[in-house]
Amino acid sequence: MSIIRILPEAVANKIAAGEVVERPASVVKELMENSLDAGAGRVEVSLEAGGKRLIRVADDGCGMTHDDALLAFERHATSKIRSAEDLFEVSTLGFRGEALPSIAAVSRLELQTRHTAESAGTRIEIAGGRLRDVKEVTWAGGTQVEARDLFFNTPARRKFLKSESTELGHIATLVTHYALAHPQRSFRLTSLTNEILNAAPVGSARERVYQVLGGQVLEQLVELAMVERRLPQALPPGIEEEVQPEESGLARVTGFASRPEIHRLNRNQIYFFVNRRLVRDRLILHAISEAYRNILPASVFPVALIFLELPAFEVDVNVHPSKIEVRFRHSQFIHDLVRDSIRQALVSARPVAAFPMSKTPKAPATDTLEADAAERLSEEPPVMKGPEILWPDSARQSERGEALRLSSPRPAPQTGRLPLEGAALSVYAPPDEAERPGIPANAEMPESSAASEFPTDLLPLGQVQESFIVATNGEGLWLVDQHAAHERVLFEHHLRQRHEKKVEGQRLLLPIVVELKPEQQATFQELAEELAANGFEVEPFGQRTVAVKTAPAEIRADDVERLLLEILDNVGGEAKSLSLDVLRGKIAASVSCHAAIKVNMPLDRDKMDWLLRALGRADCPMTCPHGRPIVLRYGMKDLLKAFKRI
Ligand code: ADP
Ligand code: MG
Repeated sequence: MSIIRILPEAVANKIAAGEVVERPASVVKELMENSLDAGAGRVEVSLEAGGKRLIRVADDGCGMTHDDALLAFERHATSKIRSAEDLFEVSTLGFRGEALPSIAAVSRLELQTRHTAESAGTRIEIAGGRLRDVKEVTWAGGTQVEARDLFFNTPARRKFLKSESTELGHIATLVTHYALAHPQRSFRLTSLTNEILNAAPVGSARERVYQVLGGQVLEQLVELAMVERRLPQALPPGIEEEVQPEESGLARVTGFASRPEIHRLNRNQIYFFVNRRLVRDRLILHAISEAYRNILPASVFPVALIFLELPAFEVDVNVHPSKIEVRFRHSQFIHDLVRDSIRQALVSARPVAAFPMSKTPKAPATDTLEADAAERLSEEPPVMKGPEILWPDSARQSERGEALRLSSPRPAPQTGRLPLEGAALSVYAPPDEAERPGIPANAEMPESSAASEFPTDLLPLGQVQESFIVATNGEGLWLVDQHAAHERVLFEHHLRQRHEKKVEGQRLLLPIVVELKPEQQATFQELAEELAANGFEVEPFGQRTVAVKTAPAEIRADDVERLLLEILDNVGGEAKSLSLDVLRGKIAASVSCHAAIKVNMPLDRDKMDWLLRALGRADCPMTCPHGRPIVLRYGMKDLLKAFKRI
């Protein structure tokens, strides 16, 4: 007797639904993707109870004919691909034909649609996968899907849902990011009567960022200049001959990446889109952290919105049931392209941190607007909770007491002089909790010049506590951390010399004997060659001791031992696993830190002048190799405001 049986359609759909529909946000994602695939110019999402009671997605796309509308609920029914080969070149967001039957299997679903070619519309009702009703209706056009009581027939699943505000937060994040990826289309998200997002079509990604995330977030970002590269020619396996090599085409990166002073404690604010599809990708996360290497501290993360466009056959989207992971045919190429695009933007913009400013009193009109927004939001529980939340409003963070933090031994900034509280800039921001999406403001979009780049015409005036150089130019007042500045200059110089195999060593009068701990000894053996290329001449000398005969030129003899041990400890057991670039970066950072001018050191005018010029020529004058800020700018406008002249 046979014990294997084919599962009934309804059971199969429930199983598929388990993969596709995890929470209300997954339903919204699938329905929104369908709307975008249908060519909609307008997508409206309405919710009740965080999507648990109702999710409604309406669009003005092409709609469906009566027959197609019924077919759409069959499993694996799709208009987007026809054959297995098409899987290699998916240009739509959907292609699996699983979403509608899956959603219908676990909710009470109602679809209304009308195809442009038909005069009557169609209304279909399905509950828990069972067709309840099909009717002809009058329907203006486009498609609307309502999914009520998600998981009503799978109580175990329902129990896993989080609070309404958490689910709403996930949906808001999702809709916001689809809106960011499609600036020419309009998106609206409401929860009961509460409007969470309303974004009319705009002309550019920059305007969309301003519209949905607000001016403050925009100011924290550097826009990437579009970088385009031709993909490698070789035909990847699985692609048939009919794909001509010249069609290998271009890969293009655009987007936004945060200025170096913006720090996040997790990766929640890194968003990556492949052909306008929001995906998760480890490779890209790695490329982004590479881009920020020696610009951001090792333990923090930037904010990034990266859009990658490439020919459909270069990316396999059929990797994950809910299509949030992809595989690239030329993954290393894509990795390097993303890394270089961000790095290039950071280096060419050379963004300087504005001095943390207190919030200036707002014009009453703005106040009302904000109050309105706050009120609208407070009708609902906090929108943004849970792990995937929107970009923080940094003023809000600083209100929670997170202002600028300098690490010792630098003197802590005194309050009451320059207004430090309510910083517009927050370094080491707290984990992002209870954030909310920026309410579209009516104010003018800030000009990009609000973000200043490092100047080359600074006139040094003196030092604060023999540690920070005070300088001016036409733009205002500048404070420069002399140690960090010199460190950056030496770091870049050292790396360049290393690259050209020209690092100079200086022979010590007497060799310095250094005793190593066992793990340091092990690291030393791994590192010996690289140390030699970095200006060291070190020889084994007895059991666990080495003799340093030559050290990098700028290092004082009495600092050589500390430097060597620091390098060995920093690299630790990782010598083998680190890429050569990372390893060289670590060594250069240690050498430059030891060689740089210290704090509490008087500098004459010429030295200050030299340092400011040298910094002006650096690739990344904004942060030291450990990621701390080097320069703060107190702009003319801020000065005038502080003195109540404007
Ligand atoms: P897929 O998107 O993978 O094709 P779905 O189950 O999401 O599968 O949808 C099935 C089909 O229904 C789609 O291929 C499309 O033809 C049609 N469809 C779904 N939603 C819409 C919509 N909003 N507008 C027009 N057609 C739609
Ligand atoms: Mg779909």
